[in-house]
Amino acid sequence: MISGKQTTAWAEVDEQGRLVIPAEIARAYGLLPGARVRLDEGNNFVRMHRPVTHLTKVYIEPTVACNLDCITCFRNAWGAAYRAA
Ligand code: SF4
Repeated sequence: MISGKQTTAWAEVDEQGRLVIPAEIARAYGLLPGARVRLDEGNNFVRMHRPVTHLTKVYIEPTVACNLDCITCFRNAWGAAYRAA
């Protein structure tokens, strides 16, 4: 179970230059041997996404035909290519 509480943990770089994260963190996020994760680099940080085998949310949109424009719609967070014309 993953806590909603923010915590700080430390990772280390081993002798081969590989980043090693604590086993409990890897286990909590489904990082099994061979798992592939996406890394996004930002200004002074690297964000590691969960592997696709460990998703927390899945949105299913059976249609893009909605012509409303609710301010809370999560489509607002998507790129223009995903919005209905
Ligand atoms: S939340 Fe988004 S998809 Fe739902 S009705 Fe509003 S605009 Fe349409």
